[in-house]
Amino acid sequence: LNRRLNGMGSTIFAEMSALATATGAINLGQGFPDTDGPAEIAEAAVRAIREGRGNQYPPGPGIPELRTAIAEHQQRFYGLGYDPDGEVLVTAGATEAIAAAMLALLEPGDEVIAFEPFYDSYAACIAMAGATRVPLTLRAPDFRPDLDLLRAKVTPRTRLLLLNSPHNPTGMVLTPDELTAIAELACERDLLVVTDEVYEHLVFDGTHHPIAALPGMRERTVSISSAGKTFSFTGWKVGWVTASRELVAAVRTAKQYLTYVSAGPFQYAIAEALRLPDDYYADFCADLLRKRDLLDTGLRAAGFEVYEPQGTYFITTDITPFGEKDAYAFCRALPERCGVVAIPNSVFYDDPDAGRSQVRFTFCKQDAVLADAVARLERLGG
Ligand code: PMP
Ligand code: GLN
Repeated sequence: LNRRLNGMGSTIFAEMSALATATGAINLGQGFPDTDGPAEIAEAAVRAIREGRGNQYPPGPGIPELRTAIAEHQQRFYGLGYDPDGEVLVTAGATEAIAAAMLALLEPGDEVIAFEPFYDSYAACIAMAGATRVPLTLRAPDFRPDLDLLRAKVTPRTRLLLLNSPHNPTGMVLTPDELTAIAELACERDLLVVTDEVYEHLVFDGTHHPIAALPGMRERTVSISSAGKTFSFTGWKVGWVTASRELVAAVRTAKQYLTYVSAGPFQYAIAEALRLPDDYYADFCADLLRKRDLLDTGLRAAGFEVYEPQGTYFITTDITPFGEKDAYAFCRALPERCGVVAIPNSVFYDDPDAGRSQVRFTFCKQDAVLADAVARLERLGG
């Protein structure tokens, strides 16, 4: 393994899901739903396969039906106009979009400012591009970014800001004022913004605000999202990028040599999914909000310090009330102690102290599973 990927041997999600499988524990670690998305959308994928649509290499940028549906979604929810032909790119999940964006836009030695705790692929992709990650630490209890500090971290080497809102793992959602301040900084210092908005439809208070909609931002922003989260088909790996023609062309160049194209039949199905009525999106969010409250209440009752998330399907907690401070050790022992798997946020920080005692639980699970997990966690006796 080369030096750039040194220490990135196995993702924490794979490690903890393997632990869940090995021990039979309830997996509230990796973020994937235990109920599939809409049956008619699954049928649409089956139909596409049967009818021979997408079974051979689809077009590189994605099938026109899906690119059109993505552009319509950006217009319908945010009033953002993108040309399906040149300003939209279909990727193998948001993960490939992030990788392709980093590989396409960064020069070795460039600096990328990203929130920490960071979604794990950010660190790896920045490293693979030969660039340097500059963390802006989000701190408990509210995980708001310090915008003065952000400004101070911009140097002549800073090439881009890598944003994530709603934020995994903390559930922090950037406010319109924060987005405006970040946008102004990006314009003033001529920075690109890559924004990971995979949880765009999981904002519990108000609505999602894409930074691309702010003045001066459309031309410098690469927006990324994914069908995995919004439609509960994480295994299909359908993601996308919307951006200016120039930025999409750059990201597409890298994507061509990563996967060439993304799986065909699922693209037809997701084109249908994106056109589901507003009720689908509202019900999805309301359902997850109810689950958030279930798990939030349960975790508090079990003795955790709980940081209520404003979005995503994750809750970050602190284990100090149990007299413990090492999240990684806690998560490794948790299946044995009470039959539950969680994710230590500590691995998402460069600063070893900032997230040392933080543990993340997902609530994208059936109510009965969440109730069972909470009952088990109560045995910890915090
Ligand atoms: N970004 C964030 C913040 C995520 O939480 C995830 C996955 N769960 C991804 C990107 C990756 O999305 P995908 O599964 O579409 O590759
Ligand atoms: N994004 C999911 C999470 O945060 C996991 C995806 C993955 O395993 N790479 O749990």
